[in-house]
Amino acid sequence: MINLYDLTRPEVSALITGWEFSPVHAARLWRYLYGECESSFEAMPELPAKVRTRLIAETTIDVLPISLETDSNDGFTRKYLLSLEDGNRIETVLMRFTGRVTACISSQVGCAMGCVFCATGQMGFTRHLTTGEIVAQAVHVQRVLRTLGAETSDIDSNHDPRSHRLRNVVLMGMGEPLHNYDAVLKAIEILNDGSGLSLGAEHITLSTVGVVPGILRLAKEKKAIRLAVSLHAATQAGRASLVPAARKWQLDELMAACRTYSETTGRRIFYEWTLIEGENDTEQHARDVGSLLRDLPSQVNLIPLNPTTGYDGAPTRSEAAKRFQQILSEEFKIPSTVRQLRGIDIAAGCGQLAIAEK
Ligand code: SAH
Ligand code: SF4
Repeated sequence: MINLYDLTRPEVSALITGWEFSPVHAARLWRYLYGECESSFEAMPELPAKVRTRLIAETTIDVLPISLETDSNDGFTRKYLLSLEDGNRIETVLMRFTGRVTACISSQVGCAMGCVFCATGQMGFTRHLTTGEIVAQAVHVQRVLRTLGAETSDIDSNHDPRSHRLRNVVLMGMGEPLHNYDAVLKAIEILNDGSGLSLGAEHITLSTVGVVPGILRLAKEKKAIRLAVSLHAATQAGRASLVPAARKWQLDELMAACRTYSETTGRRIFYEWTLIEGENDTEQHARDVGSLLRDLPSQVNLIPLNPTTGYDGAPTRSEAAKRFQQILSEEFKIPSTVRQLRGIDIAAGCGQLAIAEK
């Protein structure tokens, strides 16, 4: 059986016309899949019965059933534990700030990169997700948003209609997206399709631990997505102690790849820095990262450490985070943001996703 979420629009078209049906039906099917987010062929009345019969016989629409749904007390964050067909599970997070709706989606079950402070890394690698499983997460979130839109009681207080459409996707859930390059890039193409979910490339962020060959490959793609690179330390030794993958892709090699990426695409890179008290948050650390990024188009995203059971570091306090930002901006003219703590009570923050069943 073919999972329709695995197919790009041209592939859906080739499937339908290959069966000698009109391409009009392919366009309708695509709209049902991504405009209406339908998950049942019975709910596609504009498709002739003979087309539906063939679809039912040879294809599936693999929605990911919800195992668990938890709402954060922050009122903005909701986490879904979704089941995959083989019994594995992944987490997807929906964040709704006023007028800005973001889905944080996973690219793998677990992760092979083993970053010491990350709950996903601590669980190890199980398998890559398929394109369909990545796409299904975004469709799931869009479906939830449509339902929320229909329930006036559960709506943003300003009734902003934009709150009911998925606008942003961040590949920052479980897994290392560039370790699953082909499936991820194909999923991005599907999410980006103008007659589907229609997520603008600039509204899709891919975050990588620093897989150098993947960054160089991405530089040559035509998709203008946003790239985030998880740096965390500005020296090879410091980085290798937090991010084991840095032993394979060393800091100088990584920075050369980032330079190539920015030069080839003309785009800046977002550098992520998990702020850990006493580990990488001193004034000297700020100057080190400032010097490292000095002549690169960059923005630094500071993420105070979120607690995970396998690592006993503490998050940087807000005064020290402000000082870090001040050094970056005043001494190096590098813009930065400090990630707001969101969804921590339900372990939906960065690096906390690990299929917890509570
Ligand atoms: N594998 C990718 C994307 C997923 S992690 C990557 O590593 O970039 C998304 C971000 O959360 C990364 O910047 C990661 O370093 C950060 N992160 C991981 N664990 C964290 C934790 N416990 N607290 C704060 N940020 C964390
Ligand atoms: Fe994997 Fe990213 Fe977690 Fe590192 S931080 S273990 S790369 S998910």
